[in-house]
Amino acid sequence: MSTFKKSSKKGSVIFVGAGPGDPGLLTLKGASVLASADVVLYDKLVNPQLLRLAPQAETIYVGKSIEAKRAKKKRLSHKREIYIQQKKTNRLMLIQAQMGKKVVRLKGGDPFVFGRGAEEMAFLKEHRIRAEVIPGVTSGTAVPAYAGIPITDRRLASSVIFVTAHEDPSKKETMVDWPWLARFQGTIILFMVLHTIDQTTRVLMKNGMSGRRKITFIEKGTVAEQKIVEGTLATITKKVQKADLRAPALAVIGEVNELKKAIPRAIFSQDRARGLEGKTVLVPRPEHQAATLKERLEHLGARVLLYPLIDILPPANFKKMDEAIHKVHDFDWIFFTSANGVHSFFQRLFRLKKDARLISRARIGAIGSATQEALNRYGISPDFIPKRFTTRDFANEFSRKIGFRGKKILLPRADIVTDDFMKWISDCGGTACQLVAYRTRRAKKTAVVKKVLLAGYVDYVVLTSASLADSLCCCLTREQLKALSTRLVSIGPVTSQALRKYGLKPWRQARTHNLDGLMEVLVS
Ligand code: SAH
Repeated sequence: MSTFKKSSKKGSVIFVGAGPGDPGLLTLKGASVLASADVVLYDKLVNPQLLRLAPQAETIYVGKSIEAKRAKKKRLSHKREIYIQQKKTNRLMLIQAQMGKKVVRLKGGDPFVFGRGAEEMAFLKEHRIRAEVIPGVTSGTAVPAYAGIPITDRRLASSVIFVTAHEDPSKKETMVDWPWLARFQGTIILFMVLHTIDQTTRVLMKNGMSGRRKITFIEKGTVAEQKIVEGTLATITKKVQKADLRAPALAVIGEVNELKKAIPRAIFSQDRARGLEGKTVLVPRPEHQAATLKERLEHLGARVLLYPLIDILPPANFKKMDEAIHKVHDFDWIFFTSANGVHSFFQRLFRLKKDARLISRARIGAIGSATQEALNRYGISPDFIPKRFTTRDFANEFSRKIGFRGKKILLPRADIVTDDFMKWISDCGGTACQLVAYRTRRAKKTAVVKKVLLAGYVDYVVLTSASLADSLCCCLTREQLKALSTRLVSIGPVTSQALRKYGLKPWRQARTHNLDGLMEVLVS
């Protein structure tokens, strides 16, 4: 048997429904359990983005495809292959729990909807391991919903049925009563139907269902790759074959399909011209700052690669920052030039057991909408936001509208900035105190970025700061940079200037220097 040591501490297994694909459909309870897990065992249908909610945990993939490869080698049948995989997963869960760990078993959709959740739980009960379930949003309801199909409707369908079409329906051993189903008046959701659509529709029609009944086939519902094929029972097989769909996919049969005309599809609709379909966009921002950008690019249909090229670190020591915080009453203005500056400043302030009232005397200036949003999160509305988002414009506009003369200004910024801003302020009669609120460092691991760029795999790189432009250019040699076919999209003049230092030109520069501006140039 195994060589592991059993622990006296009691482990447990929590089954968490991961939802159908869109990571936003995880429950709050699921997210909180992930954040405290020791181990996460996850399936093929689980969106790997969710694993980011468990950075502390060991994550183990127990999906089918690894086993499928081995089974193929050994010429095992599909059933036998699943049996072996399931046994391994069960054993893994058991061992981890017996070691006293908190195990999260993350399953696609809802663990109890065609998910073998019940079998796995029964196995654990047999071995006296504590197990519980946190239900998830099942693909059975969410995938049709994102495609604009409500599964029930007062006028058209007062019942709904979830059916697995995994078994060949013409086989005798099927547990589904197909003749009865053919007469069913409500909505039918067919799971695991990709390879059996032909047999399934034939059996239904043979048993009396009209070939004109509407059916919608949905591949990879709720995520950007979602594909929808519409037809009737008689026509759908050919259409599905032509569309070359992949798993996971489900089908919705019934009159509710009519409602699609009246109901807008979700954000991932194929109907909307989105502009970045089929394009791959590299986002080199630190992960904690990339979520909104990623989401917006995905809404436009892009495939987004997140590879942070810089790390954000706290200052080497807090002496200067603490001094400034203690003397903050002396300042007339605090200018924040980045969201990172805002967060570092306030986090330190809170660490020193102060709160936002401490800076009530000073007025606040902010460059850029991200900086403004970051301030809003601390309950602060900036008093001055320049129309254009560079320090140069800030200084000019402030000088014209308010004036620097006699003003004392605090500038919590990154370690890599120049003294230009300070100089402009003092040239205009103000006094500026610039301090390091955070440090930026080039990320060390850049091999993957290099590889995808050189392979010509990336269509666009979105550069949201000069330090990112700098890090990107440092990943490659001058020759490689010159030969690069990827389009570099710059958020503003300072970032573009950083590219020019390496002999590169941005493909386009955002007219407004924020995410809206970037999106605009990407699709125009
Ligand atoms: N427990 C899961 C279902 C697991 S069975 C749930 O509650 O959703 C796997 C089947 O679910 C797939 O074959 C497919 O029919 C369906 N499915 C899961 N996710 C899907 C998605 N994003 N789009 C379309 N079908 C999906």
